[in-house]
Amino acid sequence: MADQFNQPLGGNDMPRFGGPATMMRLPSQQGAAGLDACFVGVPFDIGTSNRAGTRHGPRQIRAESCLLRPYNMTTRAAPFDSLQVADIGDVPVNPFNLLDAVRIIEEHFDTIVADGCKPLTLGGDHTITLPILRAMKKKYGPVGLVHVDAHADINDSMFGERIAHGTPFRRCVEEGLIDGQRTVQIGLRGSGYTAEDFDWPVSQGFRVVLASDCWNKSLAPLMEEVREKVRGGPVYVSFDIDGLDPAFAPGTGTPEIGGLTSAQGQEILRGCRGLDIVGGDLVEVSPPYDPSGNTALVGANMLFEMLCVLPGVAYRD
Ligand code: MN
Ligand code: MN
Repeated sequence: MADQFNQPLGGNDMPRFGGPATMMRLPSQQGAAGLDACFVGVPFDIGTSNRAGTRHGPRQIRAESCLLRPYNMTTRAAPFDSLQVADIGDVPVNPFNLLDAVRIIEEHFDTIVADGCKPLTLGGDHTITLPILRAMKKKYGPVGLVHVDAHADINDSMFGERIAHGTPFRRCVEEGLIDGQRTVQIGLRGSGYTAEDFDWPVSQGFRVVLASDCWNKSLAPLMEEVREKVRGGPVYVSFDIDGLDPAFAPGTGTPEIGGLTSAQGQEILRGCRGLDIVGGDLVEVSPPYDPSGNTALVGANMLFEMLCVLPGVAYRD
């Protein structure tokens, strides 16, 4: 049965250090026609406020993803038994013009989601979630959101600019792209300028879960509450790698101590099983700050966990 679906190239057929440099060593194809889900890169970092480098994220995540095998040993998810998945390459962003890049990203995702293909996006800084969700709205209407991040990303502006990597979720609320009553932010922490950074999302109906409320415990019970909050319609997952502690994911532009563990990141994504997930992204991996490649490896694994909870995934249990 698995023969009908694309399969990642196995490590016994071609050594993992050879072969295609696609996500999970999947076949590549142009466009999303015929796919249930796709991996797509957005090599973009001109929305960052501090350390750049996420333009190199998609390529490095793909490189580290060569270690991934197709079956999830813990959850028993076997996504390639029941979904047609491919790597459809990168969005050709304009690296000199942020607003033009945002337009290009939205138009690219319009075509991906038109036929119901669920995009799993390799970022790129967090600016990219705005045009992705603009495209999502045209297909699905406002979506619920599970957002993992050290930062709320609800600034009204940065240096007077309304589109940057610290503003996407303010714009998403204003433009009706997300349903605040079905939105949860997990992992928030650090120093700030004003209490409003964490109070404004609450005023919009979001559930805000501080990183410190996650310390030293399993997040499985939290995810029961999260599922209750976000269910009832399509849900998007946006995972900023800086939600994790820099001990696990140092290669990012705006690291904050006291973050989630990578196991807690897995618990969050595994806890999304059963929701109507319509897409997700993994953003803010910055290879210049990631000499070991571990941050990109963690990112690749988180994208695999997202794939494993998409609707229609087969489980061998
Ligand atoms: Mn972010
Ligand atoms: Mn962040």
